[in-house]
Amino acid sequence: MIEMKDVQKMYPNGVMAVNGFNVRINKGEFVYVVGPSGAGKSTFIKMMYREEKPTKGTILINGMNISTLKDHKVPFLRRHIGVIFQDFKLLPKLTVYENVAFALEVIEETPENIKSRVMEVLELVGLKPKARMFPDELSGGEQQRVSIARSIVNTPKVVIADEPTGNLDPETSWDIMNIFEEINSRGTTVVMATHNKDIVNTIRHRVIAIENGQIVRDEQRGDYGYES
Ligand code: ADP
Ligand code: ADP
Repeated sequence: MIEMKDVQKMYPNGVMAVNGFNVRINKGEFVYVVGPSGAGKSTFIKMMYREEKPTKGTILINGMNISTLKDHKVPFLRRHIGVIFQDFKLLPKLTVYENVAFALEVIEETPENIKSRVMEVLELVGLKPKARMFPDELSGGEQQRVSIARSIVNTPKVVIADEPTGNLDPETSWDIMNIFEEINSRGTTVVMATHNKDIVNTIRHRVIAIENGQIVRDEQRGDYGYES
């Protein structure tokens, strides 16, 4: 599903953000990525959806070698990977419905298919009644639900989230986690960078810990392992 072989990322300023990663994530897994700020978590994740290119090594996603993928094929890759950010990144001038529908409209689905699929994912995240609202009319938790709905509307096999609960209060964070659990229980692979110790230690999954650009721990049903 996701495989990295001897992957290295050195930024143009000389920072070695990821140094020699060998890791394999199988279909249906739920993986937390933990570690101190600046450890390389975001860089690791960004390489999975080709936001960053490795300077060395091979990255396979569903057998597709994305380290050598031509730039014009990146949109194709992105249709098979849902991405969720800490700051939601919704389009402010579009409604909830339109933010979610957007990803389907670009692949020329029929209007009937778009509507039924958008309503299905809005139902899943509990936001069907707010389909007509704009992002700035929603709470942070609701905005994150919209961004999750948007990320799964194309039925990707992998969902990648970079600190999805980083801007949310604890209670809202648990609600958001329940949605990720539901998505994962339906067979979607989830990779999530997080600083949320309570969540990692309670909803147990594989934990990959990164420090100074290296994988220092990789455990099934691991714990968070840091003080905060
Ligand atoms: P984390 O997500 O664990 O906080 P990052 O992957 O964001 O870590 O960063 C890893 C290292 O790479 C840090 O030293 C950071 O300063 C550096 N870095 C991240 N992005 C860039 C960039 N675009 N250019 C240069 N250095 C970067
Ligand atoms: P249902 O038939 O499942 O109850 P509705 O047709 O009542 O769904 O739509 C629910 C909400 O979804 C509407 O209030 C509207 O905001 C939004 N919606 C539905 N279709 C569209 C569309 N094509 N463009 C924008 N918003 C839409």
